[in-house]
Amino acid sequence: MSAARSRGARDGREPTSDDEPRDDAVEADRVRAPMPRLPWLDQPLRALVAQRPTLAHALLVTGAAGTGKRNFAMHFAQALLCETPRDDGLACDTCASCTYFIAGQHPDFRLIALDTPGDDGEVKHRAEIPVDDIRALRELVELTAHRGGCRVVVVDPAEGMNRAAANALLKTLEEPPPDTFLLLVSSQPRRLAATIVSRCRRVALPPPPRDAAIAWLAEQGSVAPEQVLAQAHGAPLAALALADATLQDERRGWLTALAEPRALSPSALAVRIDAVPREARRDALAAIVDWLIAWSVDLARVAARVPAAANTDFAKALEALAPKVARISLSRYHRTLLRARARLAHPLTPRLTLEALLADYQALFDHARR
Ligand SMILES: [Zn+2]
Repeated sequence: MSAARSRGARDGREPTSDDEPRDDAVEADRVRAPMPRLPWLDQPLRALVAQRPTLAHALLVTGAAGTGKRNFAMHFAQALLCETPRDDGLACDTCASCTYFIAGQHPDFRLIALDTPGDDGEVKHRAEIPVDDIRALRELVELTAHRGGCRVVVVDPAEGMNRAAANALLKTLEEPPPDTFLLLVSSQPRRLAATIVSRCRRVALPPPPRDAAIAWLAEQGSVAPEQVLAQAHGAPLAALALADATLQDERRGWLTALAEPRALSPSALAVRIDAVPREARRDALAAIVDWLIAWSVDLARVAARVPAAANTDFAKALEALAPKVARISLSRYHRTLLRARARLAHPLTPRLTLEALLADYQALFDHARR
């Protein structure tokens, strides 16, 4: 079994029947370290594991994006599958089942996600979870569990399922297969069909305490933990993704331009996105639109005499600008940005989109000129 193949199984590609683990494969993977648990999720994890004897077969794990729901679901799945759990009910990390799980090769486990590795081992991002992924679960649940324990399926994000997939899942929820746990993960549970939500027991994960999140980010070697955590609205995993020196330089460049709206040239600024490789342009646009959204939210906060939330490092500039914007135009601009953010999935020209958004931003300050 190749490295790409085992990596694939770990990240969610569905192993086929010939993926039955072989001792040599497991041997090669034995050195793989288990995924570290997140400190702020430790207590909720122990609490849930302790309820195992009375647990519903379908759980809906909810919480803010970027706070570790996937990590939680994976650790819970491993604990359910573990053959010799520790006294506190968590997985032992050493039994045969844990070894398969950590290697991404457990035959009684499936992770259905949007980010799925292709045959080349490259992770591909899908727009939605197709019905075939859910239908393929039938195979898993109709067979006796390979290792004689239970079977666990994680669907993350559950709202990523298209309508047909959600309907297929609903059938499984209506007739729950024995010894099978379905863990649905969602940061937007309101987007799920009520018929699905009502058949799941809700597990709402608490937001991470700020101090624990900052300590964890520092441990991961993050640049400016406080600042990136603020930019990510308190979500540590999202913050870690932002903790990249190049990305932070880019953000500072954009915010510095926004801080001087009169000097800003929408076309000159927007054209910079053409320098980004074509395949990465949409992500770059999403990042810039997110910065614009956070900036406009902070302008509104500062105007209402509430401290900036995301852009604490630009507090002075925000204070200077806030009195110059009419609140009604600002809230209209905020809605424009949210619509632009929602449309990013559709084909568009990043440069033109950006240019229009920047021109709208500049227009917010027009009345101050007269
Ligand atoms: Zn174990």
